[in-house]
Amino acid sequence: MNITTALSHATETKVFEVGVDALSRLPAIIRDLGIEERVVIVADENTYAAAGDRLEQILRNASIALEETILYPGRPVLQAEYEHIVELRERLRPVDALPIAVGSGTINDLVKRSVWELGRRYLSVGTAVSMDGYTSAGAAIVGDLGVLASAPKKMTAAGYGDLFAKIVAGADWILADELGVESIDPLAWEMVQEELRAWLAHPAACAQGEQESIAQLYTGLSLTGFAMQAIHKSRPASGAEHQLSHIWEMESLTLDGVPVSHGLKVAIGSLASCAIYELLLELDVRDLGVDERLRSWPSWEKREAEISSLAGEAAYAQQMKVESKKKHLAPEGLRDRFERLVGRWDTTRERLKKQLYPYDEMRAMLEAAGCYVRPEELGLSRERAVRTIRLAQMMRERYTVLDVAYELGRLDEWADRIFASDRYWR
Ligand SMILES: [Zn+2]
Repeated sequence: MNITTALSHATETKVFEVGVDALSRLPAIIRDLGIEERVVIVADENTYAAAGDRLEQILRNASIALEETILYPGRPVLQAEYEHIVELRERLRPVDALPIAVGSGTINDLVKRSVWELGRRYLSVGTAVSMDGYTSAGAAIVGDLGVLASAPKKMTAAGYGDLFAKIVAGADWILADELGVESIDPLAWEMVQEELRAWLAHPAACAQGEQESIAQLYTGLSLTGFAMQAIHKSRPASGAEHQLSHIWEMESLTLDGVPVSHGLKVAIGSLASCAIYELLLELDVRDLGVDERLRSWPSWEKREAEISSLAGEAAYAQQMKVESKKKHLAPEGLRDRFERLVGRWDTTRERLKKQLYPYDEMRAMLEAAGCYVRPEELGLSRERAVRTIRLAQMMRERYTVLDVAYELGRLDEWADRIFASDRYWR
């Protein structure tokens, strides 16, 4: 799907532009959007140096009225904590100016949320292709290739990891679709999946900052955001791999004292998900008897106790119970699920094989892009990684490969196997 068509389905973003010297086109974009008011740049010291400073000059030269730039320190790493959102919201409230978020990560998150609470809109200027579609909800999204290509390499790798996740997230949606849990929305599917393999085709070039590949990555991540805007849910962009990453986010996973980028966690999550898919696709589900599984199938009370024992005192335990209860099957529901899976196994397996890359290929691509490919590189022990797989299955109602593995009675065994095996985490 081309950008113009995709934009016509997005609810918030009206303009998308990525290109060489795209910053210099911002005055025209601001005027095309019919924005007569003043603008205010929001940046941190790093993103200000990367693009904010130049943008100020460009806007001044074009006689666009500027409020004083809101500048955050570059260190310590700024987090999108709610107190910062409140503070920014109150700074922006009396200012009659359109905010321009200069920065792809936290700065964009902070501005997005603050202006949303004020019922206003904003423009987003990317400084790295680490931006997840979740966050790109500006009225205009502008990526200057000179700026994007000079971003720190690990940020570009994170963007690649987050876009790569759409391969396994797509597989999860296929699975949910086949099992009658959640149908695929053809429009959102096309926006994300139609060109996904082309966007992902040049991991090494992305790592080297080659501009054409960076442009593809930025376009892909942004289209993912438009797909979520179009159907008001994150299913097009997120499956089991994001649930794993979500657990690590809630556990505040850091590496050398710095929070690990979302996309780098998602890349490890994608590999875990892909490994579980390989084990699933090796099975012939017709050989699995539902009666055997029913003997160990827990009642909801027992399931709740399982969640308590695994999540312990963690703040997210309560949320897990709420989410898991929504998808917990009664024995007759499990019987139906097995029947449907067996009945549709040939088509399901075909569709999944077509969607996924073989594990080795996927790992090589992520590695070439500069992503971490072993849990240890994120500072995770294998025990902790195994525990995360079990927790991630409890985290959200959204149906993924972790759920089918759980329902088949294989989740614990497979989690152990992928983290113990040289096949997967060598
Ligand atoms: Zn993401």
